[in-house]
Amino acid sequence: MGAHLSSKIAEGRAFMQVVDGNPVDSLSGERIDVVCPSDGKVFASIPASGEADVDRAARAARRAFDEGPWSRMPAFERGRLLTKLCHLVEANADELAALESRDTGKPLRQGRADVAAAMRYYEFYGGAGDKIHGDTIPFLEGYTALTLREPHGVVAGILPWNYPLQILARVAGAALAMGNTLVVKPAEDASLTAIRIAELALEAGFPPGVFNVITGYGREAGAALSAHPQVDYVTFTGSPPTGTAIQQAAAINNRGVTMELGGKSPQIVFADAYIEAALPVLVNAVIQNGGQTCSAGSRILIEAAVYDRVAQGIAERFSKLVAGPHDANLDLGALINPKQKARVSGMVEAAEKAGIPVLARGSIHPDAPSGGWYFAPALFGHVPSGAQIAQEEVFGPVLSLFSFNTEEDAIRLANSTDYGLVAGVWTKDGARQHRVAKRVRAGQVFVNGYGAGGGVELPFGGFKRSGHGREKGFEALYDMSATKTIVFNHG
Ligand code: NAD
Repeated sequence: MGAHLSSKIAEGRAFMQVVDGNPVDSLSGERIDVVCPSDGKVFASIPASGEADVDRAARAARRAFDEGPWSRMPAFERGRLLTKLCHLVEANADELAALESRDTGKPLRQGRADVAAAMRYYEFYGGAGDKIHGDTIPFLEGYTALTLREPHGVVAGILPWNYPLQILARVAGAALAMGNTLVVKPAEDASLTAIRIAELALEAGFPPGVFNVITGYGREAGAALSAHPQVDYVTFTGSPPTGTAIQQAAAINNRGVTMELGGKSPQIVFADAYIEAALPVLVNAVIQNGGQTCSAGSRILIEAAVYDRVAQGIAERFSKLVAGPHDANLDLGALINPKQKARVSGMVEAAEKAGIPVLARGSIHPDAPSGGWYFAPALFGHVPSGAQIAQEEVFGPVLSLFSFNTEEDAIRLANSTDYGLVAGVWTKDGARQHRVAKRVRAGQVFVNGYGAGGGVELPFGGFKRSGHGREKGFEALYDMSATKTIVFNHG
């Protein structure tokens, strides 16, 4: 297990948050320890913000929006700043990947992929903001009616810990491209790269108060931010219960929200599929980021005629999976924190107790530090559709296999959870590809492939408990703005 920049990066650093163009501590001076999931050891600290810090950041974002120059800047100039940020992310790619990897425990390889995806968001939105426009509307004789897309104002982004670099970039890219100002609260378990990106945004030349990052606990800083009267719109990625709390808080001020609340995404494998091509994708879709991915393909529905063959192919791969420290770059890292490990272990134990057959387990590398929160991947076969692991988001390296007989059964099973984020369909039959893709309730459907988290150009978001609103692609620019209608009476 070789030493790398990611083993020692940020050692002992007391990070500051970025508010109104300045690095600042929390007003109380209270701090949160930053722990590396790979060994469970504290290596840095971040400010623990409370209501007063949130108020300071929200007011800074308000001033930056109301007083300019940001909201009066032509869209192409805002885009150039986003493009510059993309270049600064590229110039600092090694540091950002190492920081993300040590902060979250994810393999360095994944940290690098996250940096590349973050760059794509800043690049995409850097070129998109000046290409979105309103309409002219045929109206009454003597009138001209038109629409403008206007920013909401101050956007609050509350982020999860699984992909901080990527999710910050998708939120910030779209919000800033449309001329909003931003207050972001990353998760208390993974705030470091958000702070670094806010620092790089200042270096790029974003005016003070446009790109603020505050750190702190959800129940304090997060709750205060979602209820703050100066916040005009809230975007959240995380768990459904927290999404409910944030929507209730935003409702106090009747503010709009975008909610990305996870999934229980199915991949349907028909008997005629290219099975050998599908197998590595089926495994990777749940193992990427240790299964801590909202769009993880955590259920595989297999046509009965090929169930044994597909199950065996997945089991062979699963038994070879190894979890270990982020800098060892194995198949997966540690889970984010002890609470998450307890949650995943609890769900796996409950499934075992219920008699659901375990087809394979991966392993934990023998040299992995004992203080890390590792979990050996688990594959379950013939899972009953009502079981907890069939219905609830595990958010860990746990895969459930199901068998079906007809296309109708497959669709019913795919739609049998309360979630609807992503789905995969594997078949050579073109008509079936279209039929099934249309009938599965999911915000994204991949045919003969799967993109857990990929594709900055592709609109992304959920049906049902997976949330509402759309991120990524051009669609996000609509969520991050509002239509204004102007009517001229010229007689
Ligand atoms: P969470 O949803 O509670 O936290 C996400 C973010 O919300 C963090 O920034 C947190 O500080 C903030 N937050 C928490 N409570 C808040 C509140 N009352 N008001 C405003 N903000 C608040 O996630 P968690 O507790 O870290 O993890 C719990 C479960 O959520 C996980 O086990 C997993 O199943 C799921 N999860 C899903 C995603 C996803 O992308 N779908 C991401 C993270 C976690």
